[in-house]
Amino acid sequence: MVIPPFSNEPLTDFFTNENRQGFLAALSRVKNALGQTYPLIIGGREIATTDVIRSVNPAHPEQVVGCHAVAVQEHVDQAVSAATAAFRSWSRTSVEDRAAVLLRAAHTIRGRRHDLSALMVYELGKAWDEADGEVAEVIDLMEWYARQALRLAVMDGITPVRGEINRFRYVPLGVGAIISPWNFPLSLTTGMMSAAVVTGNTVVVKPAETSSTSVAWLVNIFREAHLADGVINLLTGWGEVAGEALVDHPGVRFIAFTGSREVGSRIYERAARVTSGQRWLKRVQLEMGGKNAVVVDETADLTRATREIITGAFGFQGQKCSAGSRAVIVESVYDDLVSRIVEAAKKLKVGDPIDPTVMVGPVIDDTAEEKILDYIQLGRHESDLLLGGEKPQMEGYFIQPTIFGGVTPDARIAQEEIFGPVLAVMKARDFEHGIEIANDTDYGLTGSFFSRDPERIALARDTIRVGNLYINRRSTGAMMGVHPFGGFNMSGTDTKGGGPDYLLFYLQGQSIGEVL
Ligand code: NAD
Repeated sequence: MVIPPFSNEPLTDFFTNENRQGFLAALSRVKNALGQTYPLIIGGREIATTDVIRSVNPAHPEQVVGCHAVAVQEHVDQAVSAATAAFRSWSRTSVEDRAAVLLRAAHTIRGRRHDLSALMVYELGKAWDEADGEVAEVIDLMEWYARQALRLAVMDGITPVRGEINRFRYVPLGVGAIISPWNFPLSLTTGMMSAAVVTGNTVVVKPAETSSTSVAWLVNIFREAHLADGVINLLTGWGEVAGEALVDHPGVRFIAFTGSREVGSRIYERAARVTSGQRWLKRVQLEMGGKNAVVVDETADLTRATREIITGAFGFQGQKCSAGSRAVIVESVYDDLVSRIVEAAKKLKVGDPIDPTVMVGPVIDDTAEEKILDYIQLGRHESDLLLGGEKPQMEGYFIQPTIFGGVTPDARIAQEEIFGPVLAVMKARDFEHGIEIANDTDYGLTGSFFSRDPERIALARDTIRVGNLYINRRSTGAMMGVHPFGGFNMSGTDTKGGGPDYLLFYLQGQSIGEVL
């Protein structure tokens, strides 16, 4: 199979009229498709349930985006059985045919790019460019993993022995549970699901409750790409019920999870138990939260640092695992940079992201809104409120971009993931103290260092302990194939999505020695 070398999918330029008109048309097309009911998909069968979970538009909570069937234990059992049955033939399907499914799905997504982005504007409150960037990443993941699977299928590195034919190859594991979070429903589900499937595994996908419509559309695209029944099974439902039953199921061979530290830690513990009928130790991948620091020294380009801090902290309302939620600034430029950040944040337009000039949309739901407002209350006691801190008087789950200054490194708002538009700013004596503060957290996902001094940059590279470190740029926006993504410490198992080694999680090595 010959395919062109990988290159990242370009982003849509919304400054051109044609693209703007195209996106507006998609927003109105998708609006007409909102409110449908989506079934579970088990072994190719569509199964409706009496109960449904409603996914709503966080900017207009009365607008239902999709109603989703609710899986319970019996559906989990059926889905694992269907995936087990499908594994027999899918695991023996050629890697070329499996890669072709991903390439076909990527092609379909290119053709429906604006529709998928528009859906996330409604379902998640993503700004146009954020949604478009995510769909581009979905295409990248499919294209990247198709190529990586083909690469891994080539056997080499085995020492020849006279009179024998020896083989070493990678074979799939079995049935996987794919459990994804709501904030990047398309790219994170695609990443785990397509990596599992292209390597010959079959999966049961459990998306987050608040973004199930996006994942239902994604799974339908895979079905259109001639994927055999039972290879991807979709179980929408509650995490504590369907997610937990899936984690506990003895037929599940591996779990790929992206989500919070709290749920990830629970899954890790439960997955370690061997239950009746289970013939393996479950392999577990957990990608969890972050409390990412942006360190700025006195030699840095402060204009650039301001721009990147703002984008990293407030892009998608700060609801990214990679968000730069701590700014650590060397004291000689602290006052200058803080006033620049506050002035820039004042200009951010808050509102319904259906409007392309809006940068800060709603947070995902009422629970998130309440949690973030609680942290803001805490911040008022722990430090100085420099900007925001209020819920604007508008329909939907909106919170103003909020900045706290003079935050101490041990403050809870400096240590705990808030997952909202809240930036904690801290003062460091010098750049080394800044790095010390950056490292003083349980997490280790992303981080940024701004400086013009090559020696300090070298020291930062060696001493900032995060999975994804960026020099003189924001902490968000990893590109697949370019910045393999995954965190250290309590941010997860560092499986590096979009990297050259990622598929190995979904494979086991098999040696076959044959005497002639
Ligand atoms: P979450 O942990 O609440 O939910 C994630 C998924 O787990 C959902 O599908 C949910 O239904 C399911 N779930 C909930 N309880 C479960 C249980 N007991 N057993 C099995 N499954 C269960 O996370 P979220 O709110 O959807 O996402 C936000 C979190 O995800 C943040 O902490 C963020 O930092 C993290 N995240 C990490 C990355 C990364 O790559 N490291 C990327 C995106 C998001």
